[in-house]
Amino acid sequence: MSDTSSIFDPAAFGSQPVAPAAPAARRSRQASVVWGARTVTVGGDAPVRVQSMTNTDTVDAIGTAIQVKELAIAGSEMVRITVNTPEAAAQVPYIREQLDRMGIDVPLIGDFHYNGHRLLTDYPACAEALSKYRINPGNVGKGDKKDKQFGQMIEAAMRWNKPVRIGVNWGSLDQELLAHLMDVNSQRATPWEAKSVMYEALITSAIDSAKLAESMGMNGDQIILSCKVSGVQDLISVYRELAKRCSYPLHLGLTEAGMGTKGTVASATALSVLLQEGIGDTIRVSLTPQPGEARTQEVVIANEILQALGLRIFVPSVTACPGCGRTTSTTFQELAKQIDDYLRLQMPVWRKKYPGVETLKVAVMGCIVNGPGESKHADIGISLPGTGEAPAAPVFIDGEKALTLRGDNIANEFHQLVETYIDKRFGSSSERAAETV
Ligand code: SF4
Repeated sequence: MSDTSSIFDPAAFGSQPVAPAAPAARRSRQASVVWGARTVTVGGDAPVRVQSMTNTDTVDAIGTAIQVKELAIAGSEMVRITVNTPEAAAQVPYIREQLDRMGIDVPLIGDFHYNGHRLLTDYPACAEALSKYRINPGNVGKGDKKDKQFGQMIEAAMRWNKPVRIGVNWGSLDQELLAHLMDVNSQRATPWEAKSVMYEALITSAIDSAKLAESMGMNGDQIILSCKVSGVQDLISVYRELAKRCSYPLHLGLTEAGMGTKGTVASATALSVLLQEGIGDTIRVSLTPQPGEARTQEVVIANEILQALGLRIFVPSVTACPGCGRTTSTTFQELAKQIDDYLRLQMPVWRKKYPGVETLKVAVMGCIVNGPGESKHADIGISLPGTGEAPAAPVFIDGEKALTLRGDNIANEFHQLVETYIDKRFGSSSERAAETV
């Protein structure tokens, strides 16, 4: 008999257990975005919030309200709309009314550039209907008008008790500030690189504007900051420093992230690094929609970033293998997509009907190699037969093999099993069963 005791020598396994990775705690103050009797908190101990922005003409109140509704149903907790003209400002109260009539519980944020000071003064119903104002310090005016017009927007925010986001963007950076910092830099013994001066200008513009707002009487808790750039490493550099220098809640996002895969990957990469470090209190994925693509895609991606990091749970997760030469049929791909689409589609109703359903884990796997193992880790999973395997698909429920599906109707039968599982575990019948125990 061989002696295997040396294989289990604890010294061979390291002195400490491997620490699970987790996002660092955030350290910001908390702002409140209020509409009617409802509030969305941003920062502090609030979960990282998802927000988005419409691309409709705000003058089209019905079209805008419909898109806000779609974004809210997809999971956007705040929606920003463009307020660029008197006609747009005049429609804002009607958009709010439409949303209230449709039962859409989401605050509206007004995005202002150039003329926000006038619109917020001339259209008080617009100022009142919005729950937050976005102010771009690079676009509030030039020379001696700059502080005055910025001040008028801050006064409106104080009059209507609204939080503001001071949103700096490198595409519309305050040129006077940048020129001043360039001058200062040129006098250094060893001048910084132009990029570092640009970072400094972004951060200084945001923080100085926030301090100016506070000096005008604005409650510092009601100020959110952002410094958006379009490069991943630039965003990481700027936000790390911004988070070090202030405790205002931070709105995080790459500006002009781009289209499709490029925009998705760039946003996920930049945001994940920062969120893991505890930086960022609300996120937006600024994706350019592909022709025909739903605007809601940016919300889906934002949700997935937060869910992948373990910061939020929005929808049940479907684990599916990538497929390989062991399975040449597309059955498992189709079934995984079908289940994923179905679960997402149901979520607006299920959030209320099946509390906790977003924690559900489903696995759809392509063959016996990892199929049973992965399916056992899920709440409910199926291991479809790979090439050459017997045409049988074992289904695992709560880690145990429950039954085996066979024949041409496997997809529909598994679909039914998932629905039954959800109803039993998360439905009111499960509450009744628990009550009787
Ligand atoms: S589970 Fe099977 S089919 Fe899927 S990737 Fe692994 S080996 Fe390939």
